[in-house]
Amino acid sequence: NTPLHELDPDVAAAVDAELHRQQSTLEMIASENFAPVAVMEAQGSVLTNKYAEGYPGRRYYGGCEHVDVAEQIAIDRVKDLFGAEYANVQPHSGASANQAALFALAQPGDTILGLDLAHGGHLTHGMRLNFSGKQFEVVAYHVDTATGLVDMAELESLAKEHRPKVIIAGWSAYPRQLDFAEFRRIADEVGARLWVDMAHFAGLVAAGLHPNPVPYADVVTSTTHKTLGGPRGGIILAKKEFAKKLNSSVFPGFQGGPLEHVIAAKAVSFKVAASEEFKERQRRTVEGARILAERLTAPDARAAGVDVLSGGTDVHLILVDLRNSELDGQQAEDRLHEVGITVNRNAVPNDPRPPMVTSGLRIGTPALATRGFTAEDFTEVADVIAEALKPAYDAEALKTRVKALADKHPLYPGLGK
Ligand code: PLP
Repeated sequence: NTPLHELDPDVAAAVDAELHRQQSTLEMIASENFAPVAVMEAQGSVLTNKYAEGYPGRRYYGGCEHVDVAEQIAIDRVKDLFGAEYANVQPHSGASANQAALFALAQPGDTILGLDLAHGGHLTHGMRLNFSGKQFEVVAYHVDTATGLVDMAELESLAKEHRPKVIIAGWSAYPRQLDFAEFRRIADEVGARLWVDMAHFAGLVAAGLHPNPVPYADVVTSTTHKTLGGPRGGIILAKKEFAKKLNSSVFPGFQGGPLEHVIAAKAVSFKVAASEEFKERQRRTVEGARILAERLTAPDARAAGVDVLSGGTDVHLILVDLRNSELDGQQAEDRLHEVGITVNRNAVPNDPRPPMVTSGLRIGTPALATRGFTAEDFTEVADVIAEALKPAYDAEALKTRVKALADKHPLYPGLGK
């Protein structure tokens, strides 16, 4: 028995059950991944005990000589990885990074221009109940409903009309690449700052499979746990001129003591992200998403009424469009859960169904690519999903196919009892 099992069997049982769930099902939530054991070792280390308010070499506490080393390694590695002039690795999460970034670029009451939540944007890009929506004047841009692509003409005309202080490029549910040069041109034309939130696609950028926003943006934020595959957390990258403002916005602006155990784990994950193995994994991630888009719409596989927004994908996820299907998003999510595949329902632009039901699914490939899934495996996954969305589906047969895939690619084989 481990110390956790001895001290607290109730919590240990929940952790064990979650490990079993991750090992025995297919994780296809687009924002999730599996952190390497070495990353979890750093995250579960004695660094959790250390207070280190401030930044490496300039702390408000004694005894920071070792956490300084780990935090400086994280800063240097992430700057190298993305070619950034400045990095802050202290934000506790993506939302914390975004809060610190926005308050460094604008004042409450200023106008910000972000992608509508219902069209793929994130809560922190101006949603009504979020700090961004409560404290800033929000104008939202949209995707063109015919093409599913961000409507850059609308963006430009809204920017000229409202002259925002900040333009936000980035998304939580969008299957294509953004044109950062065009965002920059529009921002310059109206004197706005450009903030790119690459939380979802940072891993693809690190692998050279997606344009890098860093040369174009004033500030770039990200999470470290999605395609990037590290511990749960956030980072901010920027041009040097924003360094002072961003540092003081994170601490003491919004945070107290940094999570040095998580920062050490971020450092480890940045080392992994610079490797050839990581690039190869990101290639399988994108290839897997393309295979899903192709098979779910192929005449010999597709379920009636099932489509894919924008007709395909350039990234690690697809958005399944169920507007013409008898199944709604909730029913489709439940069907896949029943056969052992975890996804989330997601509103499609101009969704006719209510937000708790929706007419879409967001399906991502990062976690399965980390597990080692190949093109052949992703083809089988896609065919299982297509079958599960048909009116007459054989749940038991599909569960067997899911189990075979999970058994073929064991997850965390050394962990658990
Ligand atoms: N930004 C984007 C684009 C996201 O998709 C997310 C999370 O889904 C976040 C920020 C927030 O990250 P976190 O959940 O770590 O606060």
